[in-house]
Amino acid sequence: MAVIDLHCHLDLYDDPIAIAQEAAKRQVYVLSVTTTPSAFAGTARLAPPGSRIRTALGLHPELAVARERELPQFERHLPHTAYVGEVGLDGSKPHRSTLDRQAGIFMDILMLSARAGGRVLSIHSRDARKLLLDLLEVEPMAGTPILHWFSGTESEIQRAADMGCWFSVGPAMLATARGRAVAAAMPQDRILPETDGPFGMNRGRALFPWDAALVNPTLSSLWCEEERAVERQLISNLRTLTEVANKYVPQGLVTD
Ligand SMILES: [Zn+2]
Repeated sequence: MAVIDLHCHLDLYDDPIAIAQEAAKRQVYVLSVTTTPSAFAGTARLAPPGSRIRTALGLHPELAVARERELPQFERHLPHTAYVGEVGLDGSKPHRSTLDRQAGIFMDILMLSARAGGRVLSIHSRDARKLLLDLLEVEPMAGTPILHWFSGTESEIQRAADMGCWFSVGPAMLATARGRAVAAAMPQDRILPETDGPFGMNRGRALFPWDAALVNPTLSSLWCEEERAVERQLISNLRTLTEVANKYVPQGLVTD
């Protein structure tokens, strides 16, 4: 069975090389997101040749203001990947005071992505969902957003889906009743699994990319479908997304 982890921080595990090699050995489809442009090249090198690991170019909202000077690096790397992430907005208490500046930097990223012909974007939206959707609406040519660990209301999910957004959901999100209710409201043909490892946890330990399949039994009960049907749906979703990505950058990183 193919395992898909559409949002994982491979470079932030204690032993990134071992985790990347194990993920490659298990043939996991991984979108390996980064938090700064300066981490992109080294993180891309973690993916063994021929693996199903693809590396996204990111500037995490919690670091965006401190690392704004890396935007020129972002621009330089952008032609080499079809994937942007982790990017977005964080309006939680420690970061609320920089939300305006985060929004400016996020708009720069959307504009650069649009100018490059579009990208698949893995997006963080903690406590800033409305503003985030507003900004995505301003730059619809930025590409195909995947809202990661999105905890919106039903009407926000509807709005995001109408704008063409996808969603990635992980075991940690689906461990709560609220997370399950949110996931149940998402369109089944726009959902992909994620771990957000090593930040995403399960029973007190960091999730590994191959743990992403832990979402399958939960999706199976939410959708009232057999697990095999869920697996087929998720693989079909990945195929669709990969076709989109390959249009942005030919052979430009997720699956073969
Ligand atoms: Zn993350």
